[in-house]
Amino acid sequence: MLVEQIWTANNYRNFNYLIACGETGEALAVDPLDHGKCLATAKAKGWRITQILNTHEHHDHTGGNAAMIAATGAKLLAHAKAKDRIAGIDRGLKAGDVIAVGKSVELLSLDTPGHTMSHICLLAQGDQPALFCGDTLFNAGAGNCHNGGHPSELYDTFARQLANLPDATRIYPGHDYIARNLAFTLDREPDNAKAKAMQPAMEAQDPGHALVTTLGLEKEINTFFRLTSPAVIARLRQAFPDLPERPDAKTVFLKLRELRNSW
Ligand SMILES: [Zn+2]
Ligand SMILES: [Zn+2]
Repeated sequence: MLVEQIWTANNYRNFNYLIACGETGEALAVDPLDHGKCLATAKAKGWRITQILNTHEHHDHTGGNAAMIAATGAKLLAHAKAKDRIAGIDRGLKAGDVIAVGKSVELLSLDTPGHTMSHICLLAQGDQPALFCGDTLFNAGAGNCHNGGHPSELYDTFARQLANLPDATRIYPGHDYIARNLAFTLDREPDNAKAKAMQPAMEAQDPGHALVTTLGLEKEINTFFRLTSPAVIARLRQAFPDLPERPDAKTVFLKLRELRNSW
C-alpha cells in the first residue's frame, strides 16, 4: 500500500490522501477537496484514480468530488446513510465492507459515528496498519460534534473501535490541528512530558511534511485517549467541581469535549 498525504494549505487545514496499489497503479482518493493537487500528485506518481471515498458529508470533504469524477470517471464511495447528503454515491458503505484498490490493497470500512452520524473511517490491516480517520480522530485531538454529530456516539467510537486497534496503526486524519491540540493536551495535563517535548517541533512543522503519528503515540499525547489519567481527572474536577472522585471514562470524555468546544 502506497500512501500520499496531500496538504491543501487552505484555511480549514485539510489533508487529502491518495492510497495506491504498487502493482497496478490504481488509487483511491480520500476526501479530494483539492482535486487539482490530488490529480497532479497522481500524475507525478503514475497512478490512476479509480475511486473516491468521502469520510463524511461536510463540504470541505466532498467539495472536490464533481471535478475529480469529471477528470477521472472515479466511483464515489461514502457511508450508506449519507445518500441524501452526498450527491452521486455509487457505493454506500457499512461496517465491515471491504474496499479493494488494485490487486494489493484492501481497506476495511469502519462505521464511526460521532463527528457526524454517517462517518466512515478506512482501516488498512496487516503488517503496516493505517487508519484514515476523517474528522473523527485528529492528531492529539477529537472531532467536534457541532454539525450533525453527537458526543456520546463519538465516545463510543473512540472506546469501542479506535482504542482497540493495534498501537502501530498509523493515523491519517482529515485536518492538520496537531499544534493547537497539543496545547489543549498540555492545558488539561500540564505534566504530560511527551506532549511537552513534541510541542515546539509541532508548532514549527511544515504540514506539507507532517509527522504521521501512531495510535500508540496518540494514547500518550491525545487527551481523548487518557480518560483514566489521574492528572486529567484531577484537573477536570477543578473545572467541574461536581464530578465524582473517580468519574467513568465516558463522563471524562464528554467533559473534555465540552471544554474543547470553547477553548
Ligand atoms: Zn467534518
Ligand atoms: Zn473537515
